[in-house]
Amino acid sequence: MSELVVIRKEGLYCVPGDFYIDPWRPVARAVITHAHADHARVGHGHYLAAAPGEGVLRARLGEITLQTLPYGEVIEHNGVRISLHPAGHVLGSAQVRMEYHGEVWVASGDYKVEADGTCAPFEPVRCDTFITESTFGLPIYRWQPQAAILADINQWWRRNADNERCSVLFCYAFGKAQRILHELDTDIGPIVCHGAVEPLNRSYRDAGIALPGTLAVSEINDKKLYRRALVLAPPSAAGTPWMRRFGDYSDAFASGWMQLRGARRRRAVDRGFVLSDHADWPGLLQAISATGATRIMVTHGHISVLTRWLTENGFEAGSFATEYGDEDDATIPSASLQQEVGDSYA
Ligand SMILES: [Zn+2]
Ligand SMILES: [Zn+2]
Repeated sequence: MSELVVIRKEGLYCVPGDFYIDPWRPVARAVITHAHADHARVGHGHYLAAAPGEGVLRARLGEITLQTLPYGEVIEHNGVRISLHPAGHVLGSAQVRMEYHGEVWVASGDYKVEADGTCAPFEPVRCDTFITESTFGLPIYRWQPQAAILADINQWWRRNADNERCSVLFCYAFGKAQRILHELDTDIGPIVCHGAVEPLNRSYRDAGIALPGTLAVSEINDKKLYRRALVLAPPSAAGTPWMRRFGDYSDAFASGWMQLRGARRRRAVDRGFVLSDHADWPGLLQAISATGATRIMVTHGHISVLTRWLTENGFEAGSFATEYGDEDDATIPSASLQQEVGDSYA
């Protein structure tokens, strides 16, 4: 039987459907799983994406020919039945289900199994072959429940505010920032957002996601306000002149990579909060088994470790070499990872 999805130099390609999933080179037809820059690129002729992601996608890509599809609704293209299903990763993120002559493949894009209140929660989709990401596909990655991490963040903020010290929390501007924002305790003080974060907040609010009120630095005339403020900023703002206005501040970084001591040290922040928009190791295994798939194709992340585990546990496992990166952190801390987990994961 010929393969329904293969890898080409442009990206993951559905052969009978003649379309690509999250291609990294310009193509005629692209199905986009979500609007992170490594998955959604400019230059394609026609885009198909989940309806809730329309705002962020358009905001990031500008003028594109975009067709949207509500979650679960089926369209047929060249004989392939295509539908999009929530991936729980960021607003509008979707898994792509493809059915052709009774065979079903699902491409996960990026996903997270814990619901977070800012996007539709992950839904397992039955399939024969599941294409899964593996960004945090190592047994060392095990997340605490989101509620516990957000309680820690609020507590850190409150303590700083009580000491009249500004709290600066670095996190990825799209997805992570809104997820944190959604759970912040607004009784503590004002919330200030960097200019890279606020446009995304607007897209979320436009999509009906309730987020607390936020201020831009240009709206703050009295610098004393910063003493009780929490500032959400992208990692790229660290060490820039933009930071000077906050005076003596405490800083922190929220990312799945914060589980690694080396990554925390390199970031040189006061606190690291382990919060990821991707599935951890148990989450990946849970999602994979929930699909009922007998064959798993692993993409970006820790391909060799996950495929080996799957093969040893009765799955037929392979991999696709993609060009997806890690939107969570521009610098994947491979050096710190090897120090901490040893060569077996290299
Ligand atoms: Zn992503
Ligand atoms: Zn990704």
